[in-house]
Amino acid sequence: MSRSSVGHNNLKKIGKVSLIGAGPGDPEMLTLKAVRLISEADVILVDDLVNREILQHARANVRLRYVGKRGGCRSTPQSFINRLMAHEAGKGHQVVRLKGGDALIFGRANEEIDFLRERGINVELVAGITSAQAAGMALGRSLTDRAHSHGLVLLTGHPQKDGTGINYSALAQQGLTLVFYMGLARCEAIQKELLEGGLNAALPAAIVERASYSDARVLRTTLGELSGCVSKNAVQSPALLVLGQVAALALASDFEFDFGSSSATAARLPGAEIPFGPQVHFG
Ligand code: SAH
Repeated sequence: MSRSSVGHNNLKKIGKVSLIGAGPGDPEMLTLKAVRLISEADVILVDDLVNREILQHARANVRLRYVGKRGGCRSTPQSFINRLMAHEAGKGHQVVRLKGGDALIFGRANEEIDFLRERGINVELVAGITSAQAAGMALGRSLTDRAHSHGLVLLTGHPQKDGTGINYSALAQQGLTLVFYMGLARCEAIQKELLEGGLNAALPAAIVERASYSDARVLRTTLGELSGCVSKNAVQSPALLVLGQVAALALASDFEFDFGSSSATAARLPGAEIPFGPQVHFG
């Protein structure tokens, strides 16, 4: 090998794919690491839940590829996205793959990670703020609670159609807060499964639409009224369904649920009197 070809190889840029969570929508809810990597990118692949305002951090000559899909609409095939990322990184480019919320939560990230790593391509993972966290902000309270919820379960409203359903009610019986992603279309079925599983129809529920955006809506309801509330208020995607005591406006002592910690003193917590703006609707 000649000296010049060794030098050339050494100079060859090493490509990389950064799989980045772009946050729930508010362009300020982005990590500093995400901002840096976006600003260094040669190519950015953008999913449709990503607020495009964050692309202001990109270089002027960046190549943008919009590869998202909206439920029911035509989408860019996953295989095309995989090959595009591998091709660009293989040429030594810095590739950023932007996904809404946290890229590692309901983002089909493993398919992309496996595809790229099998081809020896460097993959960097950058967590983002998932929409459930933004829903907590919109609800004005914590999704966990010392008295009422010892944990939080993030669930898909679309379990695989292979018959291995999730026993939602078993989860909810433990008094955990349940947050359903992609649950709008199957809202009625989720409600039915939970009620049939023995959950109280009066269990507090909230629907959070466009969490973290300035036009976010919070609809407060109950499990028994959930799907009616969705249709009455024409809730649009993206939205999350939050079920559990923490979905109530306040942990008032007259709320008694028969899961788990019935001995809990459900006193109104200090700081519970959060002034809710006009975006709060009661379904
Ligand atoms: N990776 C994303 C989730 C992708 S699945 C995340 O971490 O948030 C897509 C689902 O996420 C939507 O159907 C909706 O249920 C939820 N979602 C995403 N952004 C949202 C937002 N700003 N407000 C409410 N729900 C949102």
